[in-house]
Amino acid sequence: MVTTLRIHKFLPSTKVEGPGTRACLQVQGCPIHCKGCAVPFTWAENGGISVEVEALAERVMKGPQVEGITFLGGEPFAQAAALAELGRLLKQEGLSIMTFTGYQYEELQQGGDPDVLALLAVTDLLIDGPFQQELLDTSRPWIGSRNQRYHFLTERYRHLEERLQHIPNRLEVRLAPDGRVAVNGLAEVEQLEALLRDLL
Ligand code: SF4
Repeated sequence: MVTTLRIHKFLPSTKVEGPGTRACLQVQGCPIHCKGCAVPFTWAENGGISVEVEALAERVMKGPQVEGITFLGGEPFAQAAALAELGRLLKQEGLSIMTFTGYQYEELQQGGDPDVLALLAVTDLLIDGPFQQELLDTSRPWIGSRNQRYHFLTERYRHLEERLQHIPNRLEVRLAPDGRVAVNGLAEVEQLEALLRDLL
């Protein structure tokens, strides 16, 4: 059976969505609906596009050299089975997996859903917790609110645990040939607005 994923966006290579240079997969669909979510256009389950997991794995492996992939959302655990399969395929090739979730690690573990546990099992670094606008804090790498936590589920990135405060948040700006500007990464709204003012 062909496994498919509903995705919003795929970046073959980025330096701002986790350790090192990584592919990044933004999945479509999120049932959590955090107040102040920066990506509400990823909430609808039927938005985005449908892609085959094997084709995505091939795209990652044939694309620019990366050390891993980051799954973010939307809510990755809403498509746990397909992402676990993608994660397994990429781990076989030596890539690392970083996964964001709006759920708490403990609730994912204790729920006992085999697909959820399978996605946890392929994840090296998990960032958990919903974005909370009132706890906005961009001083830690890759995450936007103080309640969110880093879980080093394997030894792959354990060495970063003591160094997190030295890793800055960064933004990437891409300019397409047709003049469209796309931004990813993390910054304060004011910084982003200033940047776009200068660019546009
Ligand atoms: S879990 Fe993430 S994508 Fe979903 S509503 Fe919260 S911040 Fe937005």
